[in-house]
Amino acid sequence: MRAPGGFPVVGVVGGGQLARMMQTSAIELGIQLSVLAESPLASAALVVPSSPIGDHTDLEAVREFARSCDVVTFDHEHVPPAVLAALEADGVVCHPTRTALRYAQDKLAMRERLTRLGIASPRWATARTADDVRAFGDDIGWPIIAKTPRGGYDGKGVTLVANPEAIESIADWLDAVGSPGPLEHGVLLEERVDFARELAVLVARSPSGQGAAWPVVETVQTEGICTDVVAPAPALEPGLGALATEAALRIAGELDVTGVLAVEMFEVREADGRPGYRVNELAMRPHNSGHWSMDGAVTGQFEQHLRAVLDLPLGDPTPCAPWTVMANVLGGHDDRLYRAYRHIMARDPGVKMHLYGKGVRPGRKLGHVTVSSAHLEGARERARHAADYLEGVITE
Ligand code: ADP
Repeated sequence: MRAPGGFPVVGVVGGGQLARMMQTSAIELGIQLSVLAESPLASAALVVPSSPIGDHTDLEAVREFARSCDVVTFDHEHVPPAVLAALEADGVVCHPTRTALRYAQDKLAMRERLTRLGIASPRWATARTADDVRAFGDDIGWPIIAKTPRGGYDGKGVTLVANPEAIESIADWLDAVGSPGPLEHGVLLEERVDFARELAVLVARSPSGQGAAWPVVETVQTEGICTDVVAPAPALEPGLGALATEAALRIAGELDVTGVLAVEMFEVREADGRPGYRVNELAMRPHNSGHWSMDGAVTGQFEQHLRAVLDLPLGDPTPCAPWTVMANVLGGHDDRLYRAYRHIMARDPGVKMHLYGKGVRPGRKLGHVTVSSAHLEGARERARHAADYLEGVITE
């Protein structure tokens, strides 16, 4: 199994852009990556020589894949618990483990656990009937937010329930988002948090229990999709930065997370005027809110994830520049992305581009750009300009 030099094989289930970007760090470290990809054209399959094709829900395909790996990790959180249990029974080393991953797969389980740990969360409830929804809304005030416990991403699986009359539309919404079950199977209800902005705390934790945290970042979402990330979060009150980081490291420890953990949060004002946070959700893998770290920190999230899942000492997460801004490149209608390079590179030699080799579809994450600088506003403008130009939103 081991490559020459005793280097281990890290298996990644899922061939998306996260596995692809992990390959860059794996190459540098001499670690061999193997990816179970959904298709030969999957983003990672295009750059990882060992990319067997198989579906993450196919028990036998995943088992066979895992046999040739020293450790298995994940490109997304959609591997079914039964498949994870089978790997565990086979003695496969998985990071994160099935037990930890549950809290990134199931928002109801996550809410319940974080509430028990005393981590600040939006007020929430489980609803199985229209009466449950009405009772929650009447109790905490309309509008409220409803979420499918499983399978949501990029804001899919989240809806606003404006008032009691809108309860009837929940069934249609569950149908429309392809929810695994109807209302009777349980829907997560949350208060609509009146937040000042969205933050994310990215930490890594190794099986030995070592932890490392990058600075708290600000994430900007447009229609449920993350479009921009600013590292560190501008004008963050130091007390809140420390509180949020401590919460993320505590979650990593209590849930026994191994690898990178992203904790998405809302920044709020507490009743006494102090700044506070509410945890929105968890991701147990490298995360969009950490892409800035590839160019903007001593150790980027992909290298850190590899170190963590191999139980190697963690790298230094300190930023290399006062500010790094990341802007996502979303699919528009123009698929001639490469044509944009000449203009962007000529205009701004400091822009770093990361494209994922994916076909263009409206709204699809095709890549990202980063700009590191001593000047926040300049970095924001430069990163957004490059992303907009790649998307075809602007032409000069
Ligand atoms: P997904 O898992 O589909 O990405 P999230 O739970 O992250 O869904 O929600 C997507 C977006 O919806 C969030 O980034 C935030 O802007 C908004 N949102 C989610 N939950 C709440 C809430 N309780 N209050 C206010 N806004 C919310």
